[in-house]
Amino acid sequence: MSSVVLGGGLAGLSAAYYLIRCIPNHPLTLIEASHRLGGWIKSNTLDDILFEQGPRTIRPHGISARNTLALIENLGLTDVVIPINSSHPAAKNRMIYANEKLHLLPTSIKSLFKKQDPFSKPLIWFLLNDLIAPRKNVKDESIYDFVNRRFGKEFADYLISPLICGICAGNAKEISVNFLMKNLFEYEQKYGSIFRGLTRSVFSRKILQKSELSQLALRARKEKWSVYSLRGGIETLAKSLESHIRKNNINIELDSECEEIEFFSDNVILQMKGGKNISATNVISALPSAKLGIALQKQYPELSELLQKIKSVTVGVVNLHYNKKLIKNEGFGYLVPPKEKLPILGVTFDSCCFPRGENTVLTVMMGGPWFEELFGSDPNEEVLLKTATDQLKTTLGIVDEPVNSKVNILKNCIPQYTVGHNENLENINNYIHKHNLPLFLCGASYYGVGVNDVILSSKNAVDKLIH
Ligand SMILES: Cc1cc2nc3c(=O)[nH]c(=O)nc-3n(C[C@H](O)[C@H](O)[C@H](O)COP(=O)(O)OP(=O)(O)OC[C@H]3O[C@@H](n4cnc5c(N)ncnc54)[C@H](O)[C@@H]3O)c2cc1C
Repeated sequence: MSSVVLGGGLAGLSAAYYLIRCIPNHPLTLIEASHRLGGWIKSNTLDDILFEQGPRTIRPHGISARNTLALIENLGLTDVVIPINSSHPAAKNRMIYANEKLHLLPTSIKSLFKKQDPFSKPLIWFLLNDLIAPRKNVKDESIYDFVNRRFGKEFADYLISPLICGICAGNAKEISVNFLMKNLFEYEQKYGSIFRGLTRSVFSRKILQKSELSQLALRARKEKWSVYSLRGGIETLAKSLESHIRKNNINIELDSECEEIEFFSDNVILQMKGGKNISATNVISALPSAKLGIALQKQYPELSELLQKIKSVTVGVVNLHYNKKLIKNEGFGYLVPPKEKLPILGVTFDSCCFPRGENTVLTVMMGGPWFEELFGSDPNEEVLLKTATDQLKTTLGIVDEPVNSKVNILKNCIPQYTVGHNENLENINNYIHKHNLPLFLCGASYYGVGVNDVILSSKNAVDKLIH
C-alpha cells in the first residue's frame, strides 16, 4: 500500500505527520504545487519585527484545540509557545468600529446590564428576546437571519456580522448557521430557544479528567490562556511538521501541481503539470476543494461540481510597523461591521498581543466577499497600502508613516461555508463512499477554517484511511 498526500499546507503537513505516526515506514509522497510547504501560513521577519501574513493566534479551547496542543507537545515545541492569558488586555479588550467610533465589546456579566454604544439598549434586553422569539423550523439559514430572529437586528449588525468577518472574512448574510453555530442552531430546533438548550447542555457537559489532557492542555487550562502563538510565529509549527516528516524520509515533491486524478481498480494515477505521473494506492487530498474538483472533473464530473460549490474569498493583508508606541486603547484589535461600509474588515494590534518594545505593529485585513467590489479584479498593492493607512488615520488617528510595510493579496484564501454547507458535505462524502474511492479529504474547505480544525481534519482523514 502507498499513499499520496496532495497539498503541502498545514492540512497536508499534518496528514503526513499522522500517517507516519500511525504506519511507520509507510511509502508516502507529499505533493505541493508551490516551491515551499506551509500554504497560507507565512511568518516573515523584517528588521527584527514579525509580520504574520496568515494565521497569528491559535485558540486553546475545545476538542480540536486540545488535539493541536498535544501535537505541539509531541513536536517538542512546548518551550516556544507564547500564551496570552485571559487577564491580558488583548484577551479582554475586543472592539468594533461603528458610527465613527471605537466601542469596547462587553466582557463581563455586569456589562450586559448597561447600555453601551452602539447598541440602543442594554445587551441583556436583546438576549432575553431569545426566550420569546418563536422557533422557525428550517434546515439551515444564514447566521445573520438566525441571530436577527432570535436576538434582533442590532445584535446581528454590530456583534455577529463583524465576528464573521473576523472568523472567516465572510458575510454573515451568506454563512450557514447550521455549520458555524451548529450547537446554537440545534438548541433552537430542539428546545425552542438557545437559552433552554444552553441550560440543558450545562448539566450534560462532560468535564475532562486530567489524565485525558496533554501537559500543555493542562497548562493552558490552569493559566487560563485566551489564545497563543509560537516564538518565530505560527510558521514555527509548519516548519517543525516539515522537519519531522523530512526526518522520516518522506518523498516530498515541490513545484508539482496535480492537474488530474484518475482512479483505477487497484491504483490511482495523478497527472502532474509537465507530464509526470505519480501512482499510489490511496490519496489524502489536502487541497482547497475547488482545486480537487478541477482535478476530478474528467472522471467524476458530479463530484467535481459538488467540490467546486465551496467557494473561497480573497483577503488583502497589510502588515505595518511604526517605530513608536501609537495605540491608546490596548486590545486585540477591532472589527468593522459591514453595515459601516468601510473598505476594511478589521485591524489586529499585534504589538499589544505580543509586545515589541517601543514599536507598534498592526495588521489591516480587507476584502473578503467585498474584495472585487472594492479593489477590482486586478488589484494594486499601492491602493491596498493607501487604504490601510487612510483607515488607520480615521479610526485610530495614526498619521505617522510606517517604517516598514508589507502588502499581500491572498487569492481565494478562506473557504466560505455558505447556507447548505452541511448538506453539500454529506453529498460529497456519500459520493466518495458509494463509488468506493480511496480518497480522503482534509483541509480548510470542509470542517472549519481555524488552525485547530484543519489539523483535526487531517487526523480524522488518516484515521478513516487506516480503519
Ligand atoms: C489571512 C488569514 C488569516 C488567518 N488567521 C487565522 C488565525 O489567526 N487563527 C487560525 O486558527 N486560523 C487562521 N487562518 C486559517 C488557517 O490559517 C487556514 O485555514 C489554514 O492554514 C489552511 O490550511 P490548508 O492546508 O487547509 O490550506 P492551504 O494553506 O491553502 O494549503 C493548500 C496547499 O495546496 C497546494 N495546492 C493547491 N493546488 C494544488 C495542486 N493542484 N497540486 C498540488 N498542490 C496544490 C497549495 O499551494 C497549498 O500549499 C487564517 C487564514 C488566512 C488566509
